[in-house]
Amino acid sequence: MSKITPMTDPDEIRRMLQPKDTGTSIEAVSTWSLVLHCTKCNLQTSGIYTETGDITRRCPACKSILMYCPACHNLTSATERFNILSCDKCKTDFVTKSTIEYLASRDRESREIVLSGIRATGKLHLGNFLGAVQRFVEYERGDNLCMYFVADWHTLTTCDDPREISTNSIAIASDYLAAGLNPERSIIYTQSSVPELAELALYLSMFQSKNQLEDLPTLKDMVRDRRFISMGHLFYPVLMAADILGPRATVIPVGSDQVPNV
Ligand SMILES: [Zn+2]
Ligand SMILES: [Zn+2]
Repeated sequence: MSKITPMTDPDEIRRMLQPKDTGTSIEAVSTWSLVLHCTKCNLQTSGIYTETGDITRRCPACKSILMYCPACHNLTSATERFNILSCDKCKTDFVTKSTIEYLASRDRESREIVLSGIRATGKLHLGNFLGAVQRFVEYERGDNLCMYFVADWHTLTTCDDPREISTNSIAIASDYLAAGLNPERSIIYTQSSVPELAELALYLSMFQSKNQLEDLPTLKDMVRDRRFISMGHLFYPVLMAADILGPRATVIPVGSDQVPNV
């Protein structure tokens, strides 16, 4: 997913692509026409845009949004799925501008920032639904900014098959949607899609004593069972702290087994 947003406002596109040699006279600026191309229908649509304002242009045939793609630098059509715009030429996915504005407004106005993660160890079961996901849906209906993530990095301590983790992550996200979470109201993401969390965990690790981490019940159990303990196991609670502190979460619904780590 790209963090740059594509341009959908024809005036904005026009200003950027305006040939320099047309000069700045009113006539020259207002007669230069912008040709947008629908990749789906292979249709060119042109027009002279003199008004200002955020008006999205759509293909006259298939009604797809027409945009300037900042990834492949083409004027092309895009496919909308939930709050994601996907370039029809290069297939890059973008979060739409309106989604970013909506989330920013929710961030300012929300009562709580609710955060919960789940490890990508398998598909969700009924217990997950009754214990957690049902509550997620309730939080979402309230005046909260909800962030639900798949902790794919945390899964690496018990699973070393990236394909399995990726398949499970997609399955969990689909189950979230099937259970009633609205992707236009909540932020649903994988931990690894936010590399800044790893960076934050590195800084936090400078303040965390090794002894305190070794004292955690889960690690003590592993020592007693003479299991292999990686740096990842030791680092687990530090990364968890970054998961929480990064988005400044105020409500963190967790299972009782996770309380010592938190
Ligand atoms: Zn079209
Ligand atoms: Zn593109």
